[in-house]
Amino acid sequence: MVILKTASEIEKMRAAGRVVYQALQAMKNAIVPGQTTTYDLEKAAIEVLNAHGATSPFLGYAPHNHPPFPAWTCISVNEEVVHGIPGRRVLQEGDIVSCDVGVQLNGYYADSAWTFPVGQISEEAQRLLKVTREALYKGIAQAKAGNRVGDIGHAIERHVSQHGYSIVRDLVGHGVGRSLHEDPQIPNYGRPGTGTVLEPGMTIAIEPMVNIGRRDIQALADEWTIVTSDRTLSAHFEHTVAITRNGALIITQGD
Ligand code: MG
Ligand code: MG
Repeated sequence: MVILKTASEIEKMRAAGRVVYQALQAMKNAIVPGQTTTYDLEKAAIEVLNAHGATSPFLGYAPHNHPPFPAWTCISVNEEVVHGIPGRRVLQEGDIVSCDVGVQLNGYYADSAWTFPVGQISEEAQRLLKVTREALYKGIAQAKAGNRVGDIGHAIERHVSQHGYSIVRDLVGHGVGRSLHEDPQIPNYGRPGTGTVLEPGMTIAIEPMVNIGRRDIQALADEWTIVTSDRTLSAHFEHTVAITRNGALIITQGD
């Protein structure tokens, strides 16, 4: 069931979204090639959340048949697609690091992810980040009342495949707001004019995951970290947006 949000609920989500944005900025600013560990980025995010009295819905998240997720953020390096667990790994010059942050503040949720370069990265990696970020905004441009969920996915997939990359199909975006995952699912592929009709008050996380190689993914032995099956680079950009009468309002950006 899709839960429509009132204007005041969307304002509360926006407050959570500002915290997400600030946490992602703090993670980006903490990156020093050859020095920073993925756990250092986790710490930078925790500080921001704590300063706002916010909590992470990722910590302890335990879907069926999974061990509880052991961290506040997901940090995924290079061929890791999503759901990487922060730890002792030191970020090296040329890596790309995907940081995914969810926040619960005063009962409302927001979710955003960004892939950052670590120092100087290859031209191919730069292109992957650019195309994935563009794909997110192509999807957001379709997130307007009267359109359908398939319009979002189609715009994303089309942009990605035009550049010769693959969109991950096994993981999808989602409704978000009163909890981290609500209906409907928001696939990053689809046919125009199909799927749930978008209405004012819907709040959704749009999150293309793009691989340089094939779209297939697999989980590592920790049961959380998802990697590309062919171990090619992967990028992930995500915003939470609200459908309004005047198009999409991005919940997880700065002022
Ligand atoms: Mg996320
Ligand atoms: Mg999400």
